[in-house]
Amino acid sequence: MNKGLLLVISAPSGAGKGTIIKRLMDDDRSLKLSVSATTRSPRPGEVDGEDYFFLSREEFDDLVKNGEMLEHAEYVGNCYGTPKGPVESWLNDGLNVILEIDVQGGAQVKEIMPECVSIFILPPSMRELENRLRGRSTENDEVVNARLEAARQEVHHAEDYDYVVVNDTVDQAVEEIKTIIAAEKHRFIRVSSIVERVLIDA
Ligand code: ADP
Ligand code: 5GP
Repeated sequence: MNKGLLLVISAPSGAGKGTIIKRLMDDDRSLKLSVSATTRSPRPGEVDGEDYFFLSREEFDDLVKNGEMLEHAEYVGNCYGTPKGPVESWLNDGLNVILEIDVQGGAQVKEIMPECVSIFILPPSMRELENRLRGRSTENDEVVNARLEAARQEVHHAEDYDYVVVNDTVDQAVEEIKTIIAAEKHRFIRVSSIVERVLIDA
């Protein structure tokens, strides 16, 4: 069986990656979203084990020490990481997996799993990014300002990604990402077994 596709999706905070990924998952129930671990506090409505595994710093460090993280990074004062187990077993079962991670984590995954497909989502402008981040009302002013500062650095990393999608409207961004996924499934490296099967049938 072919392994599933590993999709790395990064974007500055507030660019809309959560919104886009939710739509992708609603439209394709076979897509799996990795649930990250974090030391940040839950936002109102966030559920432990669904949105994140909310951990203490000690619990987080233990996972890292025990080699249970695929990647991990510190972002604006909190730690975030991808538990390795579920991602590996989904990929081995041929399922397509999304990692919603920051640019530091994206670089680590590209290094250890170069076959991954990386997509960077850009806001239409930094002004619109600020409007979205403030409009979401999930962080106080200090945290919003720190995230905007981080965003200015993160945007420079768009060049490290395989694809860049501008989230002008959610509909258009979702369609563009679906097109990328469809094309990537047809790369020779992923479908080489089909060629062998055709020859056997001949
Ligand atoms: P991220 O996950 O990248 O931090 P979110 O998905 O939470 O971003 O989106 C940030 C805010 O912007 C949310 O309030 C969301 O509803 C809004 N948003 C997302 N995409 C768009 C868009 N294309 N146009 C307008 N608002 C958007
Ligand atoms: P938030 O606090 O808004 O949920 O996430 C802040 C940032 O951390 C976002 O850029 C998000 O993509 C990133 N992030 C979430 N989970 C992970 C993870 O497992 N690893 C890394 N490296 N970054 C993550």
